[in-house]
Amino acid sequence: MLTTDSVEVVHDADFLTSVVIVNTCGFIGDAKEESIETILSFAEERKKGKIKKLIVMGCLSQRYRKELTAEIHEVDGFFGVDELGKVAESVLAVKQENLPYYGKRKLSTPAHYAYLKISEGCDRSCSFCAIPLIRGKHQSFPVNELLLEAASLAEQGVKELILIAQDLTYYGSDQKNKGGITELVRQLAEIKDISWIRLQYAYPTSFPDDLLDLMQTQPKICRYIDLPLQHINTRILKSMKRGITHDETVALVNKIRAKLPNVAFRTTFIVGYPGETEEEFEELMQFVREMRFERVGVFTYSPEEDTAAFALEDDVPDEVKNERMERLMELQQQISFQNNQKRIGNQEVILIDRVEGDFYIGRSQYDSPEVDNEVLVNRIDYQLQIGQFYTCVITEADDYECYARLI
Ligand code: SF4
Repeated sequence: MLTTDSVEVVHDADFLTSVVIVNTCGFIGDAKEESIETILSFAEERKKGKIKKLIVMGCLSQRYRKELTAEIHEVDGFFGVDELGKVAESVLAVKQENLPYYGKRKLSTPAHYAYLKISEGCDRSCSFCAIPLIRGKHQSFPVNELLLEAASLAEQGVKELILIAQDLTYYGSDQKNKGGITELVRQLAEIKDISWIRLQYAYPTSFPDDLLDLMQTQPKICRYIDLPLQHINTRILKSMKRGITHDETVALVNKIRAKLPNVAFRTTFIVGYPGETEEEFEELMQFVREMRFERVGVFTYSPEEDTAAFALEDDVPDEVKNERMERLMELQQQISFQNNQKRIGNQEVILIDRVEGDFYIGRSQYDSPEVDNEVLVNRIDYQLQIGQFYTCVITEADDYECYARLI
């Protein structure tokens, strides 16, 4: 929407341009702090006259617009999560109805992969989470619009579509057409030039069996599931209002692994939730030891205003939260090393993302960009193209990286 004959959009925050748009996150304490630091640093530049206009948008702006407006006077406009048109109006000084629409998305990712947001908002009520307060109720985007967007991305050269949503597996529950996520993915897979489809942020209850069936038979869907579990202790899961118990979680992971033997799981956990005892944390460690997930992210609990858990005493001291996070990450590092060692000798198709120093940096279907493992191929022996797939054999591996040569 912003790209016009007179405006070039760049994605580099260090590049001082005439207009800076800060897209904020207000999900947890650390993200809020980072967003505020970024706004303040650009506010300084705005004060010095180095930038002409400073716009702030996104979750933090939606949630704390009044407070931010009162505190930070250098910002020219604060906009919420569903005010993209107003952001464009403000930047271009043109009424929304007169904005040019070029119909193509300007990608902030490399040209060969793109995120496709399939819904907005969330109908769950996880006790620790402010997202439904910020983003509102779940709203699935229409299948036909998503198919058009995906086809347009494919035409632009996108080969990997990364489907994202707050609650991916809930897709379609609010629509009369009950095909749901499985039907959407099935239709997306029919787009000729899309080679990989990756699914991110599935919810553990009511995980659709027919999606697993489709993943078994449709090779374009990466053998990868991002399934945030948050904890394993049943008391904590109940307090978190996750709608699942320890045993049901184990059964779900085992079922998925049985149907998709080589699937890579990414999951996230929260440590230091109110009342989390050492025994409950140890139960989580034991679960991770046994399940040997391919990728794990760990957050420390932070109380968020207006959430159900905010009323609970935040009684796990920060140093204990941090120590638990470190212990869990150290455990996962060992597991990741062992999992990667097992990949040595495997033949894998690698998509090359970029060049760095002496290496081409790529990913397998088991890895999502920016958060997961990378596969490195040396540049001395090969001339590879960014955005192309190559069949490689894994030759070496460490905690979070593998090395490969072409076959
Ligand atoms: S499903 Fe995800 S986005 Fe929705 S409330 Fe729970 S943690 Fe938040």
